[in-house]
Amino acid sequence: MPVLGFGVYQIPADRTEQAVTDALAAGYRLLDTAAAYGNEEAVGHAIKNSGIDRRDLFITTKLWVQDSPAQDNTRRALDTSLAKLGLDHVDLYLMHQPYGDVYGQWRAMETAQREGLTRAIGVANFHPDRLLDLILNNETAPQVNQIETHPFYQRDADHALMREHRVQHQAWGGFAEGRNDLFVHPVLAAIGVAHGKSVAQVVLRWLIQRDIVTIPKSVDPGRMAQNIDVFDFELTDGQMKQIATLDTGRTLFFDHHAGVRSPVTLTGDRTYRLG
Ligand code: NAP
Repeated sequence: MPVLGFGVYQIPADRTEQAVTDALAAGYRLLDTAAAYGNEEAVGHAIKNSGIDRRDLFITTKLWVQDSPAQDNTRRALDTSLAKLGLDHVDLYLMHQPYGDVYGQWRAMETAQREGLTRAIGVANFHPDRLLDLILNNETAPQVNQIETHPFYQRDADHALMREHRVQHQAWGGFAEGRNDLFVHPVLAAIGVAHGKSVAQVVLRWLIQRDIVTIPKSVDPGRMAQNIDVFDFELTDGQMKQIATLDTGRTLFFDHHAGVRSPVTLTGDRTYRLG
């Protein structure tokens, strides 16, 4: 999996094909979409029209929470995603949320992997307790866990557990979607000045130096180019430590440990009523 890719969450379907076309032209080869984003078809069109060899691309999509029977529905959901993407397989299929019949969904994902419909399977938004449970009680461990990770929520404990169990940590919301004034944060900006780089580039570099795969989203070709131009500088140990001080240990989006009985909004993705 490339260490840096392109995310398409919140790009309207009618703007996604152009955005992905621009991202591919800028050099991105990992594309991260999801059934819940409503733009898999547009991603598929951009892939097809790019003429890029399928083997050079790494395509991720995600399974939304399925009603029972989860195994049948999971397979149907994957088939639908593949049809929309115009692909015979994806490179990574992620369970989008740790909810519903997680085991039923996971078993169907294992089968799909065996059948070659996805090269790898993983999860998203799994906290250490749920992740460890899944690892210990199934045949296949998730190869990836995609979780909210940015300077204000650094996920050190999650990272250590994933490293121990060889689960690749992938960051969503690496820029915290700009919350907490990330793009003008004085600590990050000063580090950027020292390297002649932007805050966005500093954040992406910080993630990469922590061995975290990152998938920044942008609809702007200039920012796409900036975000992929992060392989010609290195943050010092001191700068990594400075950024470490920004951790609040708290989500800026949605707490997956919050009560699931009352209606909740998954602002990390889209509205999802659980109760
Ligand atoms: P993000 O990448 O943290 O931030 C995107 C925002 O930053 C956009 O408003 C973008 O604006 C802006 N931006 C991008 N590059 C910039 C730059 N160089 N300078 C200034 N502003 C810049 O947010 P995200 O989209 O939530 O997360 C990334 C990807 O993770 C998603 O697209 C999706 O694929 C995935 N994700 C997964 C989950 C999950 O539950 N698994 C949840 C959320 C996201 P412009 O577009 O105008 O440039």
